[in-house]
Amino acid sequence: MSKSNFVFVLDADLNPLTPCSPGVARSLLKSGKASVYRRYPFTLILKKKVDTRPAPITIKLDPGSKTTGIALLQGSKVVFGAELTHRGQTIKASLESRRSLRRGRRNRHTRYRPARFLNRTRPTDWLAPSLQHRVETTMTWVNRFIRLAPVNSIVQELVRFDLQKMENPEISGIEYQQGELAGYEVREYLLNKWDRKCAYCAVENVPLQIEHIQPKAKGGSNRLSNLCLACEKCNLKKGTQDIEQFLAKKPDLLKKIKAQAKRPLKDAAAVNSTRWALYHRLKQTCLSISTGSGGLTKFNRTRLGLAKTHWLDAACVGEVEMLEVLTLKPLKITATGHGTRQMCRTDKFGFPNRYVPRNKFVKGFQTGDIVKAVVTSGKKIGTYVGRVAVRSTGSFNISTANGLIQGIGYKNCVSVHKKDGYNYGF
Ligand SMILES: [Zn+2]
Repeated sequence: MSKSNFVFVLDADLNPLTPCSPGVARSLLKSGKASVYRRYPFTLILKKKVDTRPAPITIKLDPGSKTTGIALLQGSKVVFGAELTHRGQTIKASLESRRSLRRGRRNRHTRYRPARFLNRTRPTDWLAPSLQHRVETTMTWVNRFIRLAPVNSIVQELVRFDLQKMENPEISGIEYQQGELAGYEVREYLLNKWDRKCAYCAVENVPLQIEHIQPKAKGGSNRLSNLCLACEKCNLKKGTQDIEQFLAKKPDLLKKIKAQAKRPLKDAAAVNSTRWALYHRLKQTCLSISTGSGGLTKFNRTRLGLAKTHWLDAACVGEVEMLEVLTLKPLKITATGHGTRQMCRTDKFGFPNRYVPRNKFVKGFQTGDIVKAVVTSGKKIGTYVGRVAVRSTGSFNISTANGLIQGIGYKNCVSVHKKDGYNYGF
């Protein structure tokens, strides 16, 4: 079994073929039948046209706030994993810095300037730039994978809990036992809603049982609003008593529990605007799109005994019978952005104090390229691979896996992968 991600293969007309294992890729390269098309993700291009029907690939996505898990499946085989790290915080910080600099500048010497605020409108589907970026970077990668592999369907985790499934009386009728899918979602939901504490004595870190607030024996329903969590002790103590009777001496607690039971979990129904925005964008790809809930993902992952990583979570999204994981090393993708348009940098008061070169390219390189530098003489003898930061002197900085290496001459550098707004690692 191979440990690395499968390799994407294109034919001479750039039509995507079935991804191949690293071993097959090695022999294709060795025999001269293919050459390297792209370094990240590793893609080969064959030297002739091929007329075969490639096996269809499914992209699975687990969108997260900091990291999005991506898995490519061929049937039940996971052939490619990736973790895309977003840069929402960086975007927020730089927009805030720009905002404060502008505010400082425009408030200066403008006593008679008319008030200009509340004069903007936003489209109804507006998302904050840091959130919009999440949608855009995810779409960038989905589109890239569509170009590199014969993708025919996409599965996305859309909501945290499938409330409809849980409230559906047909399913709720099933007993709440662990392992049962509906029961599993209900458990997860209740753990979130009741803060992983016993509702009656607030004890934490003990096994909690699902409790009917109005006991079933007295006609209490299986609806979520009638369920809470209790430790074994309280559950036994309450038995089949009415809650009013059980908490007769604690009217405050009774009121609190009753109120909390009625309240739906805030972000549970997942008015998660980013995920919905992504869903609507995915639909525009004209591939078959399906969705799953977070509860289902966790249920699948636990059942299959997989580690909790973003990319394996992605592989478990949606309806999954079984999985055969053929790769152990996901591609780590980090969004780095495309630099800045500032033409001069400012000090902390907003006064310009240094220039930025008008030209981004130095000796054919630009900041963000991934380069390989072989230094054969001087103090810095060695081979370095990493993201380059160019300096107009021609003496570059390379951030490698082992830290930043400064002062590498451009003559020692060879470009491995041109800047595309992302950094890569394994
Ligand atoms: Zn308790």
